[in-house]
Amino acid sequence: MTDRLALLRDAFPADVSGTVPLWVNGEWRKGTPGEEFACVDPTLGETLVPVASSTSDDIGAAVEAAKRAQRAWWDLDGQDRARVLRGIADGIRANAKALGTLDTLDAGRPIRDTVARDTERAARLFEFFAGTTDRLRGAFIPVQPGRSNTIEYEPIGIVGAITPWNYPLTNAAGKIAPALATGNAVILKPAEDSPLSALMLAWVAHRAGLPAGLLNVLNGPGPRVGDAMVRHPDIGKITFTGSTSVGRTIGALAGAELKSVTLELGGKTGFMVFADADLERAADALVFSAFNNAGQTCTAGSRLLVEERVAGDFLKLVSARIERIRIGDPLDPETQLGPAISSRHREQVLARMAEAEKAGLVPLATSCPQLPGHGFFLAPTVYVDVDPKLAVAQEEIFGPLVTVSTFRDEDEAIAIANGTPYGLATTAWTSDIFRARRISRRAQTGIVWLNTAHSLHPGSPYGGYKQSGLGLEMGEEAIRQHMRIKTVWSEDGPWQSPWASAPA
Ligand code: NDP
Repeated sequence: MTDRLALLRDAFPADVSGTVPLWVNGEWRKGTPGEEFACVDPTLGETLVPVASSTSDDIGAAVEAAKRAQRAWWDLDGQDRARVLRGIADGIRANAKALGTLDTLDAGRPIRDTVARDTERAARLFEFFAGTTDRLRGAFIPVQPGRSNTIEYEPIGIVGAITPWNYPLTNAAGKIAPALATGNAVILKPAEDSPLSALMLAWVAHRAGLPAGLLNVLNGPGPRVGDAMVRHPDIGKITFTGSTSVGRTIGALAGAELKSVTLELGGKTGFMVFADADLERAADALVFSAFNNAGQTCTAGSRLLVEERVAGDFLKLVSARIERIRIGDPLDPETQLGPAISSRHREQVLARMAEAEKAGLVPLATSCPQLPGHGFFLAPTVYVDVDPKLAVAQEEIFGPLVTVSTFRDEDEAIAIANGTPYGLATTAWTSDIFRARRISRRAQTGIVWLNTAHSLHPGSPYGGYKQSGLGLEMGEEAIRQHMRIKTVWSEDGPWQSPWASAPA
């Protein structure tokens, strides 16, 4: 087996023979002795290195550095900010192997996805938002003659970003890029389960010319470090991705502080397959959607809804594909399915499977490849004949688990698809273009994929309805969400008091 610690040491840009540090004010910052947590390799289930956990002093230092740096950053010409952001994109590509390796070691995400796909996506996020810095246009409102009124956009100041462990690099890039493009400074708290690539990204950004203090990375537990960020009076906006329950807590706290929030939360995508669909392609899409990243994706196609008359045929296609999934060491470029993120998460998913089986569900028999005998691996699992109201078909489980329910017609399909508290994504496979359009109009979700799965683009807004979130990431919409509007009035001549002409 590869020497994983040696790989980590080679990839990470700071000395980690002691503890992985924090990144504050453009430099590595040592943690406080005794305040550490473990970076665990989910493939072997072994601790790789200790990671510094931020204290209140670290949070204070990051806020002060961000405050100092932010004004000068906003005072730059937008094109100069854009140049730095494009430099960050180049830096990500130049360091793709190291960034991707860190995510594979830390999060168990297969290297075929981290090195090529995630790094390219992260680079493109910076490039897209670089292209927006000179499009931050306000407006001129035609008010009374002799008076001018303009609408001006300004940055919020400091944005606090809290990210989950499932796509460590792209989640971080998706929050940092729009915030920096709009003239803000960022304090990022990555998930304890996968902090390494975010730290390296901050180093890459600094080397690309991002001034010190504009991007700070504070490792540490959410309930302490994340919570302190949400409560901090100088952090003007929180952008969070993670579970609906933590999102609700953060939303409530931010509401009490009258702080802007963007919340990207859980999902339970209804993946509809109609009898007239290209069933082979739909099966490819379902298997990718449900099991990519070990099912740890908020838009995973975790609820298959299939038209009754083709259900048997379709499940045969799905089974055949599950048998071909390459499960194993995520450092192997052939591997498609790696481990779950942590022992705790694996246990939670197994407990949900046990509950489902207690409720009478039986997994579809497939000869799924043998799981490695170490680490936090989970077998791809499909439950058939599932009542869509059962908990396993209603709640986000975040593992390689699919429930299958059948429908007789379009109305029933859309009712089941919309019938959960979530509203992130809907997928539909059909060759009837009129039906596809009807479904997209009726879907109660922020994203609809028609005869496709998991299409994303930095220019396309991303966000959920209902319990899946608040606000949008990516696209032009993300720009507005990182800015405040200022209404500016001025007179073209000497101001006349209305009282001056008032009757005596
Ligand atoms: P959480 O929502 O707990 O964590 C997401 C991020 O929020 C992490 O950085 C975490 O820090 C931080 N956090 C946790 N509690 C607080 C708090 N009180 N205040 C501020 N920040 C906080 O997700 P989990 O990692 O525990 O995963 C649990 C479930 O959430 C998954 O099983 C899945 O269902 C869902 N999930 C959804 C995601 C999505 O993209 N929609 C992504 C990840 C999870 P830390 O972990 O370091 O303590």
